[in-house]
Amino acid sequence: MKVCRRCGKIDQSVNAAGFCVGCFISERQDYDNVRNYVRTHPNVTVIDAHMATGVSLKTIDRLIRDGDLSLKQTDNAPSDED
Ligand SMILES: [Zn+2]
Repeated sequence: MKVCRRCGKIDQSVNAAGFCVGCFISERQDYDNVRNYVRTHPNVTVIDAHMATGVSLKTIDRLIRDGDLSLKQTDNAPSDED
């Protein structure tokens, strides 16, 4: 038996990526949303992406750790832009 990485449910449907059927779909949708946002808004932070897409910080963090997304964790440094 495997444990879903998203909802924590122990389920036989958990796939190779580590998600149950329902979460696999949600995870893909979240990934697409964040990826599209990051693509059109380079240099955004995790917080920016979270607020703009509504995808949870936990999910965004997981996508980053998996290497699916590249995002700044925080934005404490002064910006050269604007
Ligand atoms: Zn799940």
